[in-house]
Amino acid sequence: LDLAFFIIKGSVEVYLNHLQRSAKIQKTGRSEISFLSSVDFELPASGGMQLGAGDFLGEIGAMNGWPQSVTARTATECVLLQIRVPALRKMKRRSEAFQQRLDKVYRERALLTQLKTTPLLRECEDKFISALAQRVELISCEPGEVITREEEPAEALYLVRAGFVKLTQRVGEGEVVVSYLSKGKTMGEIELLIEHIPGWTCTATSVEFSDLVKISRADLQTLLKRYPHTGKALMETAVARIKARGANKKNLRASEFLNTALEKGLVEGNSILVIDLDRCTRCDDCVRGCADTHEGRPRFVREGDKYQNLLIAKSCYHCHDPVCLVGCPTGAIHRARVGEVVEIIDDLCIGCKACANNCPYDAIVMHETGAIWPQDMLPEMLRGRAQLLASKCDLCYKTKHGPACVSNCPHGCAVRVGSLEEFQKMLSKTR
Ligand code: SF4
Ligand code: SF4
Ligand code: SF4
Repeated sequence: LDLAFFIIKGSVEVYLNHLQRSAKIQKTGRSEISFLSSVDFELPASGGMQLGAGDFLGEIGAMNGWPQSVTARTATECVLLQIRVPALRKMKRRSEAFQQRLDKVYRERALLTQLKTTPLLRECEDKFISALAQRVELISCEPGEVITREEEPAEALYLVRAGFVKLTQRVGEGEVVVSYLSKGKTMGEIELLIEHIPGWTCTATSVEFSDLVKISRADLQTLLKRYPHTGKALMETAVARIKARGANKKNLRASEFLNTALEKGLVEGNSILVIDLDRCTRCDDCVRGCADTHEGRPRFVREGDKYQNLLIAKSCYHCHDPVCLVGCPTGAIHRARVGEVVEIIDDLCIGCKACANNCPYDAIVMHETGAIWPQDMLPEMLRGRAQLLASKCDLCYKTKHGPACVSNCPHGCAVRVGSLEEFQKMLSKTR
């Protein structure tokens, strides 16, 4: 879900998805308990927990774009405030108290699990991780924000918990992209573990809204002393990274690829439609397949940016951070309850174009419905105007066959990719 709830009145019970209604809910004897939301919580294995007035739910999953693992139902009559991700971010930016509160909840409910599942810390005892979780600093970055600067003193290890971070190095008068970090990746091991490295070897910049965990040098030293194998794992990562960065810096083509991937948003997408132009006969069966699945109106255009022999079609990427959701006045565009699909509910769309203007990849098209908005329409600016409807790819998630653009291509050259590695594999096939 791309929204969270604030409980104004009443209580909400959360429980693991695989558990049926908890005993407590059954005891209430309410015949109708409305479904609310799925949220991320650190729950006791035995059951659920109860939240009351003043509590938030769903904010961690919403802000991090994580799949939801538990379910929430009203246990009593409730009054809830629904808050969408852009509003949560604004509140976080404007209010230190709100940021602290979110961080506190995150530490209590999710950080422990996240640290435990980080490959680097997997072998550490729970007690050590719990103590570490209390001491680490939580950092939130805006798109384009510089996190560390090349050559400045390196004093901490960073773990990316959400978003993307671009690593660049100076070459002559310019700068090359040497790597990028996604969720679960760390930076700082080279600088903190290898002697005689005077400062940061790269400049790290947040590509989108990113959240990081900052582990101080002192905490890292304690960790390494107590768990020597951690040092070995970090050192291996450091060496592999030095090699990869060196190769990318020397190999301008690799650096150029990373740059393109960041510029074109390829790191952003969970599902990007890529067409191998070497094999594509321009028959348009992919477009027809899409149209046939969506009342005759295709949800993508077979054009877009090209990289070598690949066409990155103008079809929704189903982004990790869907900025198209920002500012939709009705909540029509939202993250569907299936995987990473971003969809539009036609009945809620008032055709204001906010989503189309916000999407950096031109993946939303506005259609005229042929109707005119009535004179009592709100907002007033729409009165008497032609009705528009926003339309975009929904990954064909309501069908059994999956993406029709892919299955309809007779030459197998339309593919949906979800990572740079998959994209690169297609490149190597076409070279
Ligand atoms: S519409 Fe645009 S911003 Fe929204 S998920 Fe699709 S590609 Fe990303
Ligand atoms: S055009 Fe429709 S979906 Fe897009 S922002 Fe406006 S109301 Fe929301
Ligand atoms: S996944 Fe479905 S909706 Fe999206 S472009 Fe392909 S055919 Fe169209």
